[in-house]
Amino acid sequence: MIGQKLRAFMYGRYGMDQLNMALLILCSLLILVNFFVNSYILSLIATLIVIWETFRALSKKHYARQKENTVFLKFWAPTEKWIRTRYTRFKERNVYKYRTCPNCKATLRLPAKKGRHTTKCPKCATEFSVRI
Ligand SMILES: [Zn+2]
Repeated sequence: MIGQKLRAFMYGRYGMDQLNMALLILCSLLILVNFFVNSYILSLIATLIVIWETFRALSKKHYARQKENTVFLKFWAPTEKWIRTRYTRFKERNVYKYRTCPNCKATLRLPAKKGRHTTKCPKCATEFSVRI
């Protein structure tokens, strides 16, 4: 009964997308941090985020909400890629080391063998010495 009413209420409304998910996570983090610092401004920001998020989820203007999400994804995609790269490098830190080619600035993934080695960049064929 309640589920049916909720479904009827949500019919035609925008719902969740990546931007709303990010807002939800951001808001949760703010609330968590606010447990420790107990700041009025932080709780105000968290409240505003909840209001914005609710407005977006209940909105019936799908086109405008999708445009907002597209703008968000344009900013978020490179950030996510950067985070994933750092995470992968951290996970493989005992197997590979990453060094930059002095000539073309390409990033090379080298086996993590300690000492000084000579390596050749596969992109520009420059030979240079690296210390790992
Ligand atoms: Zn190079």
